[in-house]
Amino acid sequence: MTKILSIQNAKTIKSIDHGYLTGIIYLKPDKNLCPNATKECLKHCLVNSGRGKFKKVKDARLNRTKLFKNNLDQFMSQLVNEIKSFIKKAKKKNLTPVIRLNGTSDIDYSKIINHKTKKNIFEYFNEIQFYDYTKNHKDLKRLNKISNYHLTYSFNERTTKSILIKVLKTNNVARINELHKYHVLNNNKYNQIDGDNHDLRFLDRSNSIINLKLKK
Ligand code: SF4
Repeated sequence: MTKILSIQNAKTIKSIDHGYLTGIIYLKPDKNLCPNATKECLKHCLVNSGRGKFKKVKDARLNRTKLFKNNLDQFMSQLVNEIKSFIKKAKKKNLTPVIRLNGTSDIDYSKIINHKTKKNIFEYFNEIQFYDYTKNHKDLKRLNKISNYHLTYSFNERTTKSILIKVLKTNNVARINELHKYHVLNNNKYNQIDGDNHDLRFLDRSNSIINLKLKK
């Protein structure tokens, strides 16, 4: 059985130095899992970087994605069990467990409600910090209201100046330096953060631009 939650990758491993252990889900992205994907992001998506080029890793991502699409109940119940074990594992190591549900997807997990508990995953694990990047600027306001979920908006070629300024009032914005040289992003009134130092975006000061390098 393919595990849903991965623990170590080059970026999340840096979380350990800051006292956190990150669990992350990698799926095989497509237009259904990433409804706001753009031509540019599909081309540069993290799914093709690092270990993502190995067949074993690709197969695992595909298996998880099939489970998500074909048997969501089983996917979610396996995820809940894995998060419970992950919390114990982190605590044994004296680390704070944190979760990224959308390592390579852009799914609105707040809408996936467990039939028995009537809760979504954020409500079920209300003591755990979740965080993600998203290209969905329209739902940021609603998702921001979830107290244990932090979203960073990902700048993309469809982001207009008005979207950007509106998003920056409440959320941070991540950009890939090599691709997004949009002048508003360099404005001094926003904090500039090196996003490659660690992946713990919920620790960032608000009103910030997160600068990331293009991952090959
Ligand atoms: S995971 Fe993010 S970067 Fe990759 S295709 Fe989906 S929206 Fe684009």
